Amino acid sequence: MKKKFVAIAVMVLMVSCFTLPASAHEFSPERYFQLLVKNGSNSMPNINFTYNITKFTANTTFQARALESINNWASAVAAIKPAVINEPNASTAKAIFSDNWPNTFDPTKPGVAVSAPLITSTIYTYKSGWGTPKTASSVQMISQTAIYANRVLLLNLGYSDNDLRHNYAHEIGHALGFTEANDGTLSIMKQGRGSTFGWADYWKPRTHDVSDMTTKYQLKLWS
Ligand SMILES: [Zn+2]
Repeated sequence: MKKKFVAIAVMVLMVSCFTLPASAHEFSPERYFQLLVKNGSNSMPNINFTYNITKFTANTTFQARALESINNWASAVAAIKPAVINEPNASTAKAIFSDNWPNTFDPTKPGVAVSAPLITSTIYTYKSGWGTPKTASSVQMISQTAIYANRVLLLNLGYSDNDLRHNYAHEIGHALGFTEANDGTLSIMKQGRGSTFGWADYWKPRTHDVSDMTTKYQLKLWS
């Protein structure tokens, strides 16, 4: 009798542990990238990731790293068919990239993503085949995200190209609606200098991030 109870208790604990990380990297209420379009009969939406890269200084290194980070996300989450679209008009782009660190920002931070305004919206989770919605929940849509790298600081610290890619890819994660992941998960959303993590490919979205994207965006529509 006692043994049986212990076995059940262990099972419950394991389930709790395995279900924790999926929700641990979400804002509350959840945030979503706004420019999503239903992909026909497919169970995944398209993400039209419209980006602007007109706000850079003459240092072309940072612009190049930002572009590579956008494309690394697009390659990693191919299952949801993302489209990356260069939008020359910064006011209409959903993600605006820059290496100009505003002097009102904390000079010790390597990067920042400013997502605003946040629009309260309802998102519906569907059963497979886009049938009757299963659940509806209140979320926030990100209308626009400005992504900055602290060029002066990062040059002073001697950030490698991969560190710079990690920095931009992490901020793109915020634009897609994810928050920090400092719980030991191998994730692009871990804060810090990527090359100190001791992971391969630390500058690219990891398996966990692709799984988070799939869970977050699969079979969802909103009003
Ligand atoms: Zn962050």
